[in-house]
Amino acid sequence: MIILSKDMIEFLKMAAKNSFPNEFVGLLREKHGIISEILVIPGSQGGKGFALLQPHMVPIISDSIGSVHSHPSNNTTPSKQDLLFFQRNGKIHIIIGYPYEDKTITVYDNNGKKQDFLIR
Ligand SMILES: [Zn+2]
Repeated sequence: MIILSKDMIEFLKMAAKNSFPNEFVGLLREKHGIISEILVIPGSQGGKGFALLQPHMVPIISDSIGSVHSHPSNNTTPSKQDLLFFQRNGKIHIIIGYPYEDKTITVYDNNGKKQDFLIR
């Protein structure tokens, strides 16, 4: 079971709302088995998702276990570009859809398969 910290989720909801109608993008860090930290990608706020992840960001990416981004619609299905990114950048990937609540969060593995999770 994937465990997401409540604090991290609260931060994510706020960041996604602040970025709307653009995508918010971050990378995930795990602590003691709980995904509890989001590394905000510099310059990603107000941008177009993963298109903004530059090669010089790679050392940061290698330190994370996955990614998170928002969709400005209630559709949290990964795009083709999302799936390519998931395959290369860790094993856990969160998409939060509008209106950015707990129930619009979907978690995927690196193959784009939906994962069960809980928030605590
Ligand atoms: Zn996406």
